[in-house]
Amino acid sequence: MTAEARGIVAIIEPADGPAGALTAEVLGVARRLGNDLNEPVTAVVLGETVAEVGPLWEFGADKVIRVVHPLLAEFNLDAALGALEPLIRRENPNVVLMAHTFQGRALGPALAFRLQTGVATDCVDLRPGAGGGSLVLTRSILGGNFRAEVVIDTRPQIVTLRPKAFPPAEPTPGRTGTVEEFRPEPDPVRVRQEVRRRIQEAAAEGVRLEDARIVVAGGRGLGGPENWHLVEELASALGAAVGASRAVTDAGWVPTSLQIGLTGKTISPDLYIAVGISGAVQHMAGVSAAKTIVAINKDPDATIFRYARFGVVGDAKQILPALTREIKKALGKA
Ligand SMILES: Cc1cc2nc3c(=O)[nH]c(=O)nc-3n(C[C@H](O)[C@H](O)[C@H](O)COP(=O)(O)OP(=O)(O)OC[C@H]3O[C@@H](n4cnc5c(N)ncnc54)[C@H](O)[C@@H]3O)c2cc1C
Repeated sequence: MTAEARGIVAIIEPADGPAGALTAEVLGVARRLGNDLNEPVTAVVLGETVAEVGPLWEFGADKVIRVVHPLLAEFNLDAALGALEPLIRRENPNVVLMAHTFQGRALGPALAFRLQTGVATDCVDLRPGAGGGSLVLTRSILGGNFRAEVVIDTRPQIVTLRPKAFPPAEPTPGRTGTVEEFRPEPDPVRVRQEVRRRIQEAAAEGVRLEDARIVVAGGRGLGGPENWHLVEELASALGAAVGASRAVTDAGWVPTSLQIGLTGKTISPDLYIAVGISGAVQHMAGVSAAKTIVAINKDPDATIFRYARFGVVGDAKQILPALTREIKKALGKA
């Protein structure tokens, strides 16, 4: 695609909806870029049904394009590519943004391949290049140990954004823009997938891990699923969400939806309490935005203590019941 490419396209996560947290984050980045580069912002919504567009304007979109086709009722990568490739060619944007989610991590690179352009995935920061040139995109690499700055010379620059790494857009109530509909005709031969059933992950009781201000997470150091209630009890006393290391989810003690880390969820709580978790780099990749980390581990040399502001060295099975009891007392819940 050509050098005259102009505009920022934000692809909205269908599962998140027009007023969702990811939508606000992606549009927040899009709007700031649009202002910095003086380019318009277009929000693209995929879906069979006609989505509500008001929040997208309020979050900063100048134009909303609803991409409507029955195959887009559920996320189907082949159908989404069949719809987006002609749309992006027509719009010829400078930048295409989307969240680095289950959907975005598949869609971003595949779309880049179709358009023969560059993609930077899982970006944690970005800024306009000098003199209005290509964006400088920061990726967290090697399990979060290093950061790489990437520049894409081709257009559009396709970027997937790590959830929670960017501040959400502040809505401007009453802000409006334009809306149009795009009815793609995906080539049936290239749509090789069929989405038969979508299973909603069982909603965790209480606070959602991604939104929680306090998270208590357990690891292999708990010894077995029979001790997991200790993590839940502490979380309940604190009004916290429960998370887990991959060692624990792989072992089947708790559902995968609780996994925090590189291949799990990214969280940004004010307080993160890690119990019996060693602090492997892949785990810490998911908690790098936590403000205060407290670690409970029986090994004084455990890596987690390097990240923790407060640490308790000891057996979690003894410490957790006592801690829960004291917290309940302090909060008047005993
Ligand atoms: C590609 C890739 C992706 C990965 N993605 C993730 C991911 O998303 N999330 C993730 O978590 N991991 C991930 N991992 C796995 C990661 O490398 C670690 O293996 C995992 O995080 C270890 O989990 P753990 O800390 O619970 O277990 P361990 O490393 O076994 O640590 C257990 C800790 O408990 C302590 N302990 C033992 N007994 C007690 C006790 N009684 N009281 C208190 N402490 C005790 C030990 O001292 C130890 O520090 C990934 C790995 C790879 C290769």
